[in-house]
Amino acid sequence: MAHATTAELLGAGRHYYLPVYKPREVILDHGQGSRIWDRDGKEYVDFSAGIAVNGLGHNDPDLVAALTEQAGKLWHTSNVFYSEPPLRLAEELVRASRFAQRVFLCNSGAEANEAAIKLIRRWAAAQGRVPERRVIVTFRGSFHGRTLAAVTATAQPKYQEGYEPLPGGFRYVDFNDLAQVEVAMADGDVAAVLVEPIQGEGGVMPAADGFLRGLRALCDRHGALLALDEIQCGMGRTGELFAHWQDGIVPDIVTLAKALGGGFPIGAMLAGPRVAEVMQFGAHGSTFGGNPLAAAVARVALRKLSSPEILANVARQSAALRAGLDAIDAELNLFTEVRGRGLMLGAVLAEKYQGKAGAILDHAAQQGLLVLQAGPDVLRFVPPLNIDDSDIAEGLARLALALRDFVVAQTRG
Ligand code: PLP
Repeated sequence: MAHATTAELLGAGRHYYLPVYKPREVILDHGQGSRIWDRDGKEYVDFSAGIAVNGLGHNDPDLVAALTEQAGKLWHTSNVFYSEPPLRLAEELVRASRFAQRVFLCNSGAEANEAAIKLIRRWAAAQGRVPERRVIVTFRGSFHGRTLAAVTATAQPKYQEGYEPLPGGFRYVDFNDLAQVEVAMADGDVAAVLVEPIQGEGGVMPAADGFLRGLRALCDRHGALLALDEIQCGMGRTGELFAHWQDGIVPDIVTLAKALGGGFPIGAMLAGPRVAEVMQFGAHGSTFGGNPLAAAVARVALRKLSSPEILANVARQSAALRAGLDAIDAELNLFTEVRGRGLMLGAVLAEKYQGKAGAILDHAAQQGLLVLQAGPDVLRFVPPLNIDDSDIAEGLARLALALRDFVVAQTRG
């Protein structure tokens, strides 16, 4: 396919990919900041950031410089040998985290959570208590990734069906319901609670005020660990580097991925003092984990995403995005609420439009806007954290056009 047409490429996707995805029918080609172009030259405002990954937008000059400099030096060593970028990244993550003592570097969010689950189990096994603690409590509506253990932690049947037998030792409770957690922990067999400070895939649902503090208190009372999945909501997305900082709690484990590499695949599990020494030589590993290219990029992403300028921009653009969504809603009456924090916002569709998020995304793409859904009923907005005033305004203008088209199409039936 030397000079393939777009139609041919889309056909190749349908033919050769395992059909586990349903991408929109465009072939994205290059990006700059919060704009992206397809191979036919159509331009889009990017409110999706590769599912909350491109925290610094596209083609950030500092990320490109870090990657190209490292690309000319050393690509890969494996963990049989040291190289400098992952060593420095681990130290910088420990310092930035305010709680961690050690870091395990990996390549994706699911792997970071897999590492967390294994760490919890190793820690629990070393306790040697009666009754044994092996259970990990997770929450309905959560999403922790697609490996078999992570998908079992993900308390949503639609991701699990057909993959049985699933690993044992997970217990599900309702999100934001401390009373249920208390009951789930009553038997003394719980090793840890694993929770997203803001559920992402589950509909952009923030932890209620006091929920994380309540979980911390319950974990303390029952001698269990508190593990936070900040894979989507971390790395500055809420306006602080870590989402849980707003709750004033200290976790035992935090997992990161997505924006950590600014678009280059990398994940990390951060381990606090209670668990930092639990896994010793041979307990876990990854050939690519802490790859020098990924780590070199992530060091720059971490530095930039923790800068006061970026974090202030998140607050500013969050307010603008919310105001714009409210204005659209005042005209079209589409949403029951806009929820979330910082630049992780979800607009919940009114009953009449439930199940239609996918259709709205098609209208948005036609109008030159890339946006996401979080389930069939929620539009999800996770733009780059350095998006500027004019791109937010333009994205909102295109969204308004798309939603007007959508409403017209609905009334035509
Ligand atoms: N945890 C959360 C909160 C996520 O949002 C995701 C991905 O959407 C994951 C874990 C899994 O990450 P990955 O797709 O990189 O494996």
